[in-house]
Amino acid sequence: MSVGSQTGYRIQTWGSDPVWESFDRAEPGPGEVLIEVEACGVGLTVLNAIRGDLGNDPGLLPRVPGHELVGVLTGAGADADRGLVGRRVVAYFYLNCGSCLECRAGREPLCQRLGGFVGVHGDGGYAPFVVLPASNVIPIPQSLDPVAATVVPDAVATPVHVSTRAELTTEDRVVVVGAGGGVGIHMIQVSRLTTADVVGLDVTSEKLEAIESTGIRAVDSSDISSLPSLFTDGPPTVVIDLVGLDTTGSWAVDNLAPGGRLVVLTTFVDQPVTVQYRDFVFREISLLGSRYATKAEVAGAAELVAQGRVQPVIGQVVGPDDLLPLHERLRAGELVGRGALDWSLR
Ligand SMILES: [Zn+2]
Repeated sequence: MSVGSQTGYRIQTWGSDPVWESFDRAEPGPGEVLIEVEACGVGLTVLNAIRGDLGNDPGLLPRVPGHELVGVLTGAGADADRGLVGRRVVAYFYLNCGSCLECRAGREPLCQRLGGFVGVHGDGGYAPFVVLPASNVIPIPQSLDPVAATVVPDAVATPVHVSTRAELTTEDRVVVVGAGGGVGIHMIQVSRLTTADVVGLDVTSEKLEAIESTGIRAVDSSDISSLPSLFTDGPPTVVIDLVGLDTTGSWAVDNLAPGGRLVVLTTFVDQPVTVQYRDFVFREISLLGSRYATKAEVAGAAELVAQGRVQPVIGQVVGPDDLLPLHERLRAGELVGRGALDWSLR
């Protein structure tokens, strides 16, 4: 059912830029809520989604992309809780089923009946209004600025999950590879909440400066195979690889301390990393995959930002007119931290 029209960006063909156009605004159905979108995060994942990497069925089109959306819940359909009407919320990225074993245990990223992703299998925040399943919205502190809050649902929540996966302690020495990007710049900050020994690796002067602006030591990893030793107390105990190339994975395996953990998050197709099992056995190192974040971790990420314990690093905030050039900067690796689309800049 539609209630008038709105103007926003929609994907018309997987792999092509989204198109600015007018289309019908949906009304929330049973179990759904209506969000007036205030801002939406812009990172590499939304570009991957637009490219069709997370689903490329033509039957899903046209589709409004953008999963890192922040807005005010303005309406609820039949059976949906009206308790959040008027509240600021963020979207949960995964359209999880809510009833399988993993969902019931609070491990939503591992849902066994995953229905897809916001911005791919359902509309996202690249339009001023969006209808979402009521179970896909998470309230955040009302005081949190909506543009700042765009880092919450992915760029900060994902690092919170990594910290849990890696079982970080105060004794750890953490290296984040690709620390100047949208997840990395928040990963170093979330790591530092647990341990003082954190180093961020990246390759451009802008990104290295951004890492240092958070108070964390930055090291140029343009030639990762010839890095100096990074800590006075010994080799890293945890390497978080946000780059996911053979060079970065091999460096991590070669340089981890005994008992160390390598955490990986990238999902590239055809990007094998060559490792020797003997390295894992002799030094008892572990390889850990980390997938997105639970709903509880998204709520926790909102608290960290609201309390000022993690500073949002948003390299560029644009109105809808400047969104596609922002995509280009992101593709070129020029953006520091996250980007954001601010609907108040219309
Ligand atoms: Zn499930």
